[in-house]
Amino acid sequence: MGPNLSRLLICTALGLSAVVASCDRDVSSVTGDPDTLDRLMSVLTPGDSPVLPPEDQYGATDMPKMNSIEGSPERIDALPSTGSGGATSSGGTLGWPTGGEPATGGASSGGTGGDSSTGGERTSFGGSGNCTRYVDPTRYNYDSNIPRSTSPPGGLDPEEVPQFVALGWDDVWRPSGIQWSIYILKERNLKNTYFMTTYYLWDGTIRSLWRDAYNAGFEVSNHTRNHSDGYDNDREGWDLEIQNAFTDLAAPEESEFGTAGIAVASDQVRGFRSPYLHYRDELFDLMPSRGLWYDSSIEDGWDPNEGPGAQAWPYTLDNGSAGHDYAQAQSHPYRDFSVGKHAGVFELPAYAMVIPPDSLAEQYGFTAGLKERVRELDTHHGSTSDRIVGLDYDFWMIARLTKQEFVAILKYNLDQRLAGNRAPLLFGMHPHLYVGPGEWREAVEEFLDYAVSLDDVRVVTYREVFNYMREPLPLDCY
Ligand SMILES: [Zn+2]
Repeated sequence: MGPNLSRLLICTALGLSAVVASCDRDVSSVTGDPDTLDRLMSVLTPGDSPVLPPEDQYGATDMPKMNSIEGSPERIDALPSTGSGGATSSGGTLGWPTGGEPATGGASSGGTGGDSSTGGERTSFGGSGNCTRYVDPTRYNYDSNIPRSTSPPGGLDPEEVPQFVALGWDDVWRPSGIQWSIYILKERNLKNTYFMTTYYLWDGTIRSLWRDAYNAGFEVSNHTRNHSDGYDNDREGWDLEIQNAFTDLAAPEESEFGTAGIAVASDQVRGFRSPYLHYRDELFDLMPSRGLWYDSSIEDGWDPNEGPGAQAWPYTLDNGSAGHDYAQAQSHPYRDFSVGKHAGVFELPAYAMVIPPDSLAEQYGFTAGLKERVRELDTHHGSTSDRIVGLDYDFWMIARLTKQEFVAILKYNLDQRLAGNRAPLLFGMHPHLYVGPGEWREAVEEFLDYAVSLDDVRVVTYREVFNYMREPLPLDCY
């Protein structure tokens, strides 16, 4: 079997073994039970669908039942039409616009794409008063040029902008993990983004959960069909993986041929994240031709000169990627190439999180020495860095954090951002990790409850962050 297929199967095998369960890292660096892995690899042959064991094997019997999150599907497609005074601060008022449909609430026909200023009267795309949106959120011509900056867009001061928190869930498999992720967000009236690896559509339960998530207004993004390692891909390889995922998502829910998707058209899917965060320049080159508006694969926030309240905001690749350049200069093993200039392609970075100093151990409820403990296990980033990759996989599986440590790092980074330049806190998650220890689920919920308790914090989709970068609206519109 080729390297890509073997890597996919390793991911699958790791999940089955419940020893290590992620598909977003170089699995060769993962420590697991080698005997278990070898045995699983030996029984899996190319083309096999993995057979999942009952999930309650992992103690997941207390998962919420689907009927508790059903109800009328809600898609909130426009800004609130009540003006700034009527906007709630629940974080759920702004939704994910449906493709091709100008928002209601005063929208005129418009629809020619991009910023629509038509002589004397500007075309609006939803909202009113200070919250009127003049940039069509359903269309994008790659005409934004936003340099990487530690300052908010539009020349705004930090106190004028929302502190966004966006969770991006990768792969999206293990039904009870998906179900739980939908539940905890929906019960808090929040939305998030799923970066879907469409290989998992073979499973009817997963298929229906993905559809539930879409119906609940969550964002569907592209995480390839096979989760192959893009580090090995040429342009054609990237294109195939991306196109196949689009095809799978758009397929009807029922099909006489036995294959099925979730009937989500490609023009609803505008985001991409590369498996293992192993992107290549060829990926960014072809994104416009496939209608992908933003990527979230390039790491950022590793420069020690950019503190936890001063990491860069999202940016376009018009001038390449300083985040990538930093990793390349640090001899990151998967960043030994250049990222060129790609006009208008947005990067919503995969941020490093800063480990709080021991002086704050009591305040954040962790035991002193956290940075040293992380460095001992997470050896990829030197012996002195106070940062960790902003993926739950790295938190749980590499650094082996406790619940208290997981929550402490996220709360600290949110606090620092809120008091700092308010760069969005984007954090990568994996539903399949949450079929295991209940403490992991509790940690995520505790952080979410903390986030929504803070003034000026808004939990949104990646798509909403993209919208904001194009057209920042006043804080109280969100
Ligand atoms: Zn992944």
